This record gives sequence, C-alpha cells and structure tokens, in this order.
Amino acid sequence: MLVIGLTGGIATGKSTVSSLLRAHHLPIVDADVLARKVVEPGTPALAQIVRAFGRDVLLPDGSLDRAKLGRIVFADEAKRKQLNAIVHPAVRRAMLWSILRCWWRGERVCILDVPLLIEGSLWKWVAKVVVVYCSADIQLQRLMKRDKSSREDASARLSAQLPITEKVQYADVVIDNSGTPQEVERQVDQLVQRIVKEAGWSWRLSWLFPPWGVISAVGTLGWRALRRSQKAKPRRR
Ligand code: ADP
Repeated sequence: MLVIGLTGGIATGKSTVSSLLRAHHLPIVDADVLARKVVEPGTPALAQIVRAFGRDVLLPDGSLDRAKLGRIVFADEAKRKQLNAIVHPAVRRAMLWSILRCWWRGERVCILDVPLLIEGSLWKWVAKVVVVYCSADIQLQRLMKRDKSSREDASARLSAQLPITEKVQYADVVIDNSGTPQEVERQVDQLVQRIVKEAGWSWRLSWLFPPWGVISAVGTLGWRALRRSQKAKPRRR
C-alpha cells in the first residue's frame, strides 16, 4: 500500500485538495479529525488532560472546552508542551490504526492529511510528500477571506508558521493552487493517475506471492530511509 502525506500552509488549499482526492474514492486519514476524536468524552487522553489541567477545561456536557484550553496553553509554553505530550502520541496511535485499517481493507493507496507533516517527523515515513502551494499574496488574501480576519491577524498567523516556500523543499509533488479551482482539479486528476499507477498491488493480491510482499516492503522502507536521511530536518517555529 502506497502511503502519501498531504500537507500545505494555512489556506493554501490542503482541504480543497483533500476533498478532491476523496471524490476520487481515495481513503483519507485526516489528522485534524483524529485530533478531535482522541479527546472525546471517555477517552484516556481527555482523562489525562483533566488530571493535568483540572475540570475547569470541561464544558457542562463533559466535552473539552477547546477555546479555554487554547487560551491556557497559548500563554504558557510549559503547559503547551504538557498538552502536546498528551495529545500528539494519541493522534499518532490513532493514525497508525487508521493506516492499518486501510491496509486491512485491501486499499492500494492511503492519504495522510496532516497540517504539520513537515514540522513533525512524519514526512520521513511516507512514500510521497505532496505539498499544496500558492503564492504568499494569494495565501494571505484567501486566509483573510475564509476566516474573515484582518490583514494584521492573518499576517500574524502566517508568520507563526513554517513558510510554504520551505515546505515545498520537502515535496515529491507540488500542487500549485495559485490559479483557478479548475486548474487545481486538473493537477489532482494527474496526481491520482500517477499514484494509482505507482501503487502496485494490495496485500489481498500480493499474498499469492508472500515473498514478494516482504521483499518489496523491506526494499521500499530501506530506500526511503536512505533518501530521507540525506535531507536536513526543517527548523521548528
Ligand atoms: P487549507 O485547508 O490549506 O487551510 P482551504 O482548502 O480551506 O485551505 O482553502 C482556503 C480558502 O481558499 C478556502 O476558502 C477555499 O475555498 C479557497 N480556495 C481554495 N482553492 C482555491 C482556488 N483555486 N481558487 C479560489 N479559492 C480557493
């Protein structure tokens, strides 16, 4: 199974591309959705958050008050680290299960939609990194329009992120979303054709030739680790 990492900068069009890929019936593992799921009421991660931050971070219905928790960790670096140490491993585990479920269903491709694919270390573990890019000016305009924010707020959010021009350096495929929706759709169609061609067999077929499955998995992981180890890790912001 070919595991593809999809990322971008804020408002460059990652969600737009993700929806287009979904329309091609490709399975998407969405890190943002999982990040919400792993802190739903009754989860071990929510229990850990309550132990660390108190019951004040819960709404009356027992769900997480994200806005309140956001304000607490925004103002305090140590608390932000503490929260990340709870949530990030839970999201990684949930992603791994989702990937395994894709594999078990016999999917040939699995798309990981992860905003911080480059900033974290996940980019090293996927077969292909796809970055959705648009020019900085267009990114700012789209962010202001989508979130109805002022130029100052939007610029501040952009400068808190790794610039999209840096993310592009980690890409195996760049989708340039500076143009019209039709243009991005065309690029996604081409990407789908390419990845479906490269995806190979699902395990449901390759089990007929067990040694081939093992040899190809070891070969792919080895080759990828070699290539990625030659690239420097990006600066964290
Ligand atoms: P991201 O998920 O990367 O934050 P979105 O997919 O939400 O970005 O896109 C940001 C905004 O730009 C959305 O309002 C979306 O409708 C709009 N948008 C995306 N692609 C285009 C495009 N090619 N032309 C015009 N608007 C676009």
